[in-house]
Amino acid sequence: MKTYIGKIHVKWCNNCNIPLLGRICEVCGSEAKEVKLTPPGDPRLGFQYDIDFINKVIEEEFGAKNVLNGKIILLNKLPGNEEAYEVIVDGEVKYILYFDENKEKWKIKLKLSGARDLMEKGAYKKIVKIKNDIVDILKNRKGSILKPGIVEFTNDIEEKDDVIILDENNRVVGVGLSVVSSEKIKEMEKGKVVKVRFFIKSDNENENYKPKKIYNNLEEAFNIMVKANKGVIESYEKNAIGFIKNTYKKLKKPVMVAFSGGKDSLATLILTLKALGKNIDVVFIDTGLEFEETLKNVEDVEKYYNIKIIRLKGEDFWEKVREYGIPSRDNRWCSKICKLEPLKKFIEENYKDDVLAFVGIRKYESFSRAKKRMIYRNTYIKKQINALPIYHWSSLHVWIYLLKEKAPYNKLYEKGFDRIGCFICPAMEMGEMDKIKKEFPELWVKWENILKEFAKKNNLGEEWIKKGLWRWKYKMVN
Ligand SMILES: [Zn+2]
Repeated sequence: MKTYIGKIHVKWCNNCNIPLLGRICEVCGSEAKEVKLTPPGDPRLGFQYDIDFINKVIEEEFGAKNVLNGKIILLNKLPGNEEAYEVIVDGEVKYILYFDENKEKWKIKLKLSGARDLMEKGAYKKIVKIKNDIVDILKNRKGSILKPGIVEFTNDIEEKDDVIILDENNRVVGVGLSVVSSEKIKEMEKGKVVKVRFFIKSDNENENYKPKKIYNNLEEAFNIMVKANKGVIESYEKNAIGFIKNTYKKLKKPVMVAFSGGKDSLATLILTLKALGKNIDVVFIDTGLEFEETLKNVEDVEKYYNIKIIRLKGEDFWEKVREYGIPSRDNRWCSKICKLEPLKKFIEENYKDDVLAFVGIRKYESFSRAKKRMIYRNTYIKKQINALPIYHWSSLHVWIYLLKEKAPYNKLYEKGFDRIGCFICPAMEMGEMDKIKKEFPELWVKWENILKEFAKKNNLGEEWIKKGLWRWKYKMVN
């Protein structure tokens, strides 16, 4: 079932090869083209880290080098259990990047246009060449490729790999999923080798293939993207500032901004400063599980905007974890103890009456967030009235705004992290944890030691840690 939270905002200028929020490119005047995405569709902007990372995954699998260089990419997280992203490049989904939990690595699913790019960039791995008369049969109905239809194949194919399908003239005619490994194909005389994912419908599909504009570097592409969306983003800014001013006028309460070190709260902070000036309280809650980058960002933001950010700290997580046990999706004591409690205490002590908090919640973040109103009273902290100035913004609106403002955003975003918060959280997925393990090994070890201690005491075994079962309290024993 497809569920929509709201309109998907992402469009594309095929001429400048950049994403657009509005209907017209403000650089070249071209009409924006729709980008077909899987809903809810709140793709994030890829940074050079993401480009390098996906380039590496592609090169390892298919041998093609630097496929995404000089292009803006967007990553659209797919709903479901597996961690997977649609990779949008040249205005369309060309690849799906997913974390294979069995092989414990990131892999690629191909679309036809992605496969064409790979061949263009010298792909030489995971290729199956088929007879031209088989191409004609498969054109109008997808199906499977059987051993007798195969002319050649590379010797690096493993079971369940995505493969590029070529005809005898080396043209891309399809992409598919291997059913067996190269070793097996050699031994087979008949039977299924590849299950087709996508196949050409006509011969001119390959003739229509034209490579799109490539920039010298990502910074240059980002500059054009900001220019091409200037008017649209300024009208969003104007609306948000108007909302903040009106809400303040109506409620006449002291104002607070909860800054988390993330992009959404940074945009909210900038807008609130523009609307109301510096006579506001800016609060940061240090959970004790913050990345260095986030703590540094709090300092950077203070300096850049010449403001003071109040740091709140709750009880020590590392002490409490021994008392309450490992936090899990069904037992998130950490959020209450380390986050909500210190804020509640601060609000109780500092405001006689209510406080008006501008918060960077966006409806596209999740289905539960899509049900919120733009102004509402916090259920846990009764004195706190939340107001959401960027409620209708997509992730791309926020990024274009921050780039336009040259705002000091958290450097973690340039390391491939999209969710800024505690470095470890039961809400995390396996791929995210894999990233922590690789990028921040010392933080991972600190956490793993706690897990090991807990596992030993409760006889939980290695799988409980390795398979990430600790994220559910009741999934401990099999
Ligand atoms: Zn353009």
